[in-house]
Amino acid sequence: MRVPLLDLKPQYQALKKELDAELIRVAESQYFILGPDVQKMENEFCEFLNCKYAIGVSSGTDALLLALMGIDIQPGDEVIVPTYSFFATAGVVSRLNAKPVFVDSDPLTFNIAPSKIEGKITPRTKAIIPVHLYGQSAEMDEIMNIAKKHNLRVIEDGAQSISAVYKDGRTTGTIGDIGCFSFFPSKNLGCFGDGGLVVTNDAELEGRLRIMRVHGGKPKYYHKVIGGNFRLDALQAAVIRVKLPYLNSWSEKRRANAALYTKLFVEAGLAEKEGVACFNENNRVLLPVAAFRPESPDEKLMNYHIYNQFIIRVEKRDELRRFLSENEIMTEIYYPIPFHLQECFADLGYKKGDFPCAEFSAESSLALPIYPELTREQIGYVVSKINEFIKNNS
Ligand SMILES: *Cc1c(COP(=O)(O)O)cnc(C)c1O
Repeated sequence: MRVPLLDLKPQYQALKKELDAELIRVAESQYFILGPDVQKMENEFCEFLNCKYAIGVSSGTDALLLALMGIDIQPGDEVIVPTYSFFATAGVVSRLNAKPVFVDSDPLTFNIAPSKIEGKITPRTKAIIPVHLYGQSAEMDEIMNIAKKHNLRVIEDGAQSISAVYKDGRTTGTIGDIGCFSFFPSKNLGCFGDGGLVVTNDAELEGRLRIMRVHGGKPKYYHKVIGGNFRLDALQAAVIRVKLPYLNSWSEKRRANAALYTKLFVEAGLAEKEGVACFNENNRVLLPVAAFRPESPDEKLMNYHIYNQFIIRVEKRDELRRFLSENEIMTEIYYPIPFHLQECFADLGYKKGDFPCAEFSAESSLALPIYPELTREQIGYVVSKINEFIKNNS
């Protein structure tokens, strides 16, 4: 049975009529950059995410870069980021000649460990970028408290978390000073190319971000500040507007898939429960944890994990991955090398062993297929093949 890591075609087929009509409508309008489609999309996101301002931008990476420019990060400033994330989170800091300062991740949630942040703050620290990794909110209360105490800005990297909800009911991206999202096709809400969004509740920041999106010119050709070309296409906005009403139903399906994986792994005896933080005799697969559980299961909105990825951690990860691939099950490794061990950051002076939780995840994590259209049979097949491998290799 073939199980791709991600298959975008069923989603396109389901929405083909609506999407094709919109693509043709924008083509006929010949209005391609920003404009009414982007504006309407921005308004819809304000309502959907429950925030004051939303600004469509050219990618998730540009959303982060623009956000850092918006809070006026200068060369030599320090910005605290988790060492375990997609490269853009740290790359944007270095691109402004500021210094990314790395922090280890929480062993259960993969997100930045709040207890490890304060030790990294210096007089040069200007901001923290928590990442809501794999679709689950970082521990924002503690992060916001630290930021308040030390007068730091908080830029949320929500590239993988659009519509994920923190335990207090607020949508990820709307808690810090600026939230950043990506519409890269493999994210939960993907467009037909590159696209992104920044959101904020701060009117002053909104003004700066909007101007900096178009080279910092206001009025056009008059520049008080230096921005860039961070504009979103009308075509991408039109695609996102078609898809947005379906996002919650897709998240529900991803969550149901995650629940099924969990049930099957436990039934197979490979895991005792979600996320026991070390391997032992009976516990061969570490399942991802939806942390900060709601007190009451009725409170559906509390810590709403949207599973952009479903990440297990296993011993002999690379051998397992090869075995699954031979059985037509596609997986991926997010992320094989934490930032502090990347060659491009060698001059920052970190070494192996500095961040054991992130290193453990980098060495043992495996992303299983989780996309909404996956069938129960496919999920059952994935678990049975992992079971087969582990039984034969332990
Ligand atoms: C995808 C991603 C980005 C970058 O988004 P792009 O739209 O691909 O530029 C940034 N941060 C994280 C955590 C991501 O997963």
